[in-house]
Amino acid sequence: MTTKQTHSFQTEVSQLLHLMIHSLYSNKEIFLRELVSNASDAVDKLKFESLSNDTLVEGKESLQVHIDVDKEAGTITITDNGIGMTQTEVMENIGTIANSGTKKFLQSLDKKQAEDSNLIGQFGVGFYASFIVADEVVLTTRKAGDDKANGTIWTSKGEGEYSLETTTVEDFGTKITLHIKDDEKEFLDDYRLRGIISKYSDHITVPIMMIKPAAEDSDEAIEYEMINKANAFWMQDKKELKQEDYDEFYKSLTYDFEAPLAQLHNRVEGKLDYTSLLFIPAKAPFDMWEPKRKGGIKLYAKRVFIMEDNEELMPMYLRFVKGVIDTADLSLNVSREILQGNKVVDTIRKASVSRILKELEKMAKNKPEKYATFWKEFGMVMKEGVVEDASNKDKIAALLRFSTTKSDSEAQSVSLAEYIERMGDDQKDIYYVTAETFAAAKGSPHLEIFKQKDIEVLLLSDRVDEWMVNNFNEFEGKQLKSIAKGDLEDLDSKEEKKEKEKTAKGFKKTLEEMQKILENQVKEVKISNRLSESPSCLVADENEMGGNMERIMASLGQDVPETKPILEINPTHPLVEKLKAKVDENLVNVLFDQAVLSEGGQLKDPAEFVKRMNKLIN
Ligand code: ADP
Ligand code: MG
Repeated sequence: MTTKQTHSFQTEVSQLLHLMIHSLYSNKEIFLRELVSNASDAVDKLKFESLSNDTLVEGKESLQVHIDVDKEAGTITITDNGIGMTQTEVMENIGTIANSGTKKFLQSLDKKQAEDSNLIGQFGVGFYASFIVADEVVLTTRKAGDDKANGTIWTSKGEGEYSLETTTVEDFGTKITLHIKDDEKEFLDDYRLRGIISKYSDHITVPIMMIKPAAEDSDEAIEYEMINKANAFWMQDKKELKQEDYDEFYKSLTYDFEAPLAQLHNRVEGKLDYTSLLFIPAKAPFDMWEPKRKGGIKLYAKRVFIMEDNEELMPMYLRFVKGVIDTADLSLNVSREILQGNKVVDTIRKASVSRILKELEKMAKNKPEKYATFWKEFGMVMKEGVVEDASNKDKIAALLRFSTTKSDSEAQSVSLAEYIERMGDDQKDIYYVTAETFAAAKGSPHLEIFKQKDIEVLLLSDRVDEWMVNNFNEFEGKQLKSIAKGDLEDLDSKEEKKEKEKTAKGFKKTLEEMQKILENQVKEVKISNRLSESPSCLVADENEMGGNMERIMASLGQDVPETKPILEINPTHPLVEKLKAKVDENLVNVLFDQAVLSEGGQLKDPAEFVKRMNKLIN
């Protein structure tokens, strides 16, 4: 009594299959790692569920993964007695790509990048890796606890279609048979498969079984043996582990090809009892900005895998941290809901955050080159930290690095402490300018007076910067102050101030007339005390957003309140002197448009600007 139906893969799946089959030739063996990891996940899930419902395991004593090779038939079969899948689950899990980040990522992927199999693990194409070596895959599964008649057979040749059939399946769990392609027969070798397992899957705690070699041709009964070590790596003694061991473990945990920048391995005993092994990767993951990305911390309770999580065990700004936390203080029955606000989890999280921050502090001090790499990859995320994590604000602020007018490089390398050390005796505040690009920040006319007076200014052009400085405004008692907002009176000496006031007096009428012309665009026209080269610039009121923030908000689709900037003009500039003699409407408009352009803004009517410029030139 079976019914067979044919379905089409979701477009993205076909795309993915195509990509893999055609460009992933350099590292074909990973198919086994993917299937074994799925099988082990399924076993972990069943172990976990059976804690509250022991009928699920149907009397089976041990949960394992078996790998069988049939040379004559040309097949490899991976069998697990894990949780299994219902037919609906098969359709949902195998045949679609649920993760929207993966979809977007696929669309942006080119062939060169696809060849980098490092990416495969990162975006979880797992199961489809079968088709790298197989031209037909048959998956038979039954969910633990379901009726035997409710099994499913899924078949596909990986060419856009798959078929589903309902059938009776004796054992719960999942069996996947790969019909190996003619030119991939090397994988039908027992030793080759054992080698792949020990390379990638040794730390998997579920036993992986293969037939003992001697049994193959003899009359003895078939006997299986365990081929993985199945040790929980993180439980080993720190003293007995070498850096290579950590690197290997990290790679098998994350599928990263590069060794991590640093690791923190701690065993805590006493009030709480847990082991944590945390890694700081050397490269940012492609989906660091994807809100729904998978967690990087695997939570175990006494070596039983509970869940992969980032939200509860790590704050958002440390979402790049990978690793394992294994504790004896959580019941195996915890759910995500219970984890929220759980005291044990809170304590572990706090301690982990402290350790990571301390490690980074150490790295910044002792290995500045390494820290520069770290900052390049993760600096933008760390900047979120000063706002997100109030309790560690000062520590995180000390880890921040910036480009400044003195470092003069796009690579952010100046710490706030360094900035403060270089401050002049009478400088009170930490100055910054924000812009959309480094070039725009560096070229900002607002910097002129600061250059003249040799005052260092932070050049902020990461997207997160605006938001950061709006929420983080003090470091070691020094205010962070935008040089494009409010007045800058305190920079000038008494004499300079007097001098400037005198110049400004003669401009009263000019300013009034200019203001009339620009009535709809600006709040006020003022004599500037920040310009020495440029004729004009825009300034926001002390408590207004400023042009850069408005543009960011608008690009995020937010409603931006209509605010008018202040136009400041440089009384010593020849164009402005000309205006003093006679206010010319055309020139006034040009000065305004130039100010908009130089802060990285866009003109409402560029053609009009060109006309005005031409008129001026003539
Ligand atoms: P991932 O493992 O990253 O979720 P995969 O493509 O490897 O992606 O697997 C997709 C999904 O299919 C899994 O999340 C799981 O729900 C299901 N699945 C795959 N293999 C098995 C298996 N052996 N037993 C039960 N479920 C499985
Ligand atoms: Mg998988």
